This record gives sequence, structure tokens and C-alpha cells, in this order.
Amino acid sequence: MLDCAAAQFALQVSGRPQAQVTGMHELSIAYQLVEAASNAARQNGAARVTVVHLQLGSFAGVVRDALEFSFGIAAEDTPVAGAQLLIEDVPLTIFCEPCAAEAILPDNRMFRCPRCNTPSSRIVRGRELLLTAIEIEEPHGTPPG
Ligand SMILES: [Zn+2]
Repeated sequence: MLDCAAAQFALQVSGRPQAQVTGMHELSIAYQLVEAASNAARQNGAARVTVVHLQLGSFAGVVRDALEFSFGIAAEDTPVAGAQLLIEDVPLTIFCEPCAAEAILPDNRMFRCPRCNTPSSRIVRGRELLLTAIEIEEPHGTPPG
């Protein structure tokens, strides 16, 4: 596993209504992911990326299925072609003042603490779209010269 600090990026995703999802959004994200992973592979002298690790918040406004599908398309003819996309789901989490604690929301449309029912808009987690690591094919030997 290769820590992907060099390639780490976070996309700003606005609170886009789910109804607008067409797949084009996911495709453009997939291209950025593939580019970042390709760059990281190059920087580490790897010819091929085998696994791409991604954190995806449930409130990131990204449809997971569409992203997985788009990833395969975006990866074609790149070092990322054929790589596995491993998505770690990040649940939407708010901070509740009265409870002085974080709370995972069961429903993205109800911004209320599930413990005390106090409304809160302090999102702690759940908007992530983060390339966390890639796994690469180890370079076989060193090139002559
Ligand atoms: Zn609470």
C-alpha cells in the first residue's frame, strides 16, 4: 500500500440535489481520480496501479454506482486501467452541541441529532471525496542505465 499524500485531493462538492444526477458529474470526478492516481504511480516509478482507495461521504453528492462505472471508463489507456476501486463509505456525521458529541445521521435529509433531536448543521464528516491511497505493481528490477 502506498500512502498517497502526493496525490491526495479533495473535491469541493456543493450540496447538489440528488435528482440532478446524470452521471456526467461522476465521470469528471473519475477522470480526476485516474489522473491523480496515474501521477502518483509515475512519481513512484510504477507502471501500473492495481488498487485505488477512496473515501466517499454519503453527503458528497456522488452516486457510488455511477462513480464505479465511470472509473472503468476513465481508466482506459492509463496506468490505472484494470485497477480495482475500493470505496470506503463515510456516513454523514454532525456535531451536536447539547450532547457535546458527534452523531451519525441515519437520514441525509434530517439534520437532527438522533439522541436529543436538536437540529444541527455542523457537518463533521460525510462530504469526503478523497483519494487516500493507491496500490501499485512493484517495479521489476531497475532499468539499465
Ligand atoms: Zn444531541
